[in-house]
Amino acid sequence: MSAPFVTRFAPSPTGLLHRGHAFSAMAAEAAARAAGGRFLLRIEDIDTARSRPEFEAAILEDLAWLGLDWERPVRRQSDHLADYQAVLAALRERGLVYRCFRTRKEVLDEIGRAPHGAVETFRGAPLPPDEEAARLAAGRPFAWRLSLDAARAELGPAWEALSFTEEGEGPGGEHGVIPARPERAGDVVLARKDVGVAYHLAVAHDDALQGVTHVIRGEDLFEAAHVQRLIQALMGWPAPTYRHHRLLTGPDGKRFAKRDKAETLRDIRARGVTAAALRDELGVPAA
Ligand code: GLU
Repeated sequence: MSAPFVTRFAPSPTGLLHRGHAFSAMAAEAAARAAGGRFLLRIEDIDTARSRPEFEAAILEDLAWLGLDWERPVRRQSDHLADYQAVLAALRERGLVYRCFRTRKEVLDEIGRAPHGAVETFRGAPLPPDEEAARLAAGRPFAWRLSLDAARAELGPAWEALSFTEEGEGPGGEHGVIPARPERAGDVVLARKDVGVAYHLAVAHDDALQGVTHVIRGEDLFEAAHVQRLIQALMGWPAPTYRHHRLLTGPDGKRFAKRDKAETLRDIRARGVTAAALRDELGVPAA
């Protein structure tokens, strides 16, 4: 038997899908098919303020229209918050995360003052216990951040050796074995103040839980692989292979994005375009 191949499309239901999503989903499904593997759909709806059930329904409708077939049941992250809490508890136990009471503005001010300037990274440390206790007693909200210092100390020599395999391409043409440099992202938030979990933790957990062997997604998430690789190493989870793909751009040369009001798949469908024609236009191998 050949090695298992499991990939996924993991949209956040915060808007209607556009061509960029179609490309990503079709590319992942085509890769699974070519490898005789499995294609999963995962609904990443931990951002409760922005996620909507109607967008989730639209995702299922759009992907079915595209002719994609995914395994059921579909994992919906908001149904599994206890899983993420358990990971966070394990990291807390090991002193790898710390409470951060700073507001977004305070974080930005602090970054702005850093000598290296432009890079948006934040490095912090736990507050002294008495100060922390006072804030907790006052009911101040806090996020949990991953401590790069603690992670480095825990991994020891393995820190320097941390890497991931890129079979696609990062935005700078990165390909092959890439040294993981989580310090580029700073002490990332693993649990947000409002929902108790954040993107990197949920994604790394779910990719491991679902046995994802290949992460196929847009190159805008290339930097995320550096952080996710660290979380995998800390948790003893396997390292998937990454295939980041180029981002589609519109006629104006700008990438498709929800915020740019890119034409949605729903609108494309309403114009009478067939899924086959769209597949052709986007250059994805036929189903
Ligand atoms: N949910 C993320 C997004 O919609 C994608 C996560 C991933 O593919 O790792 O941008």
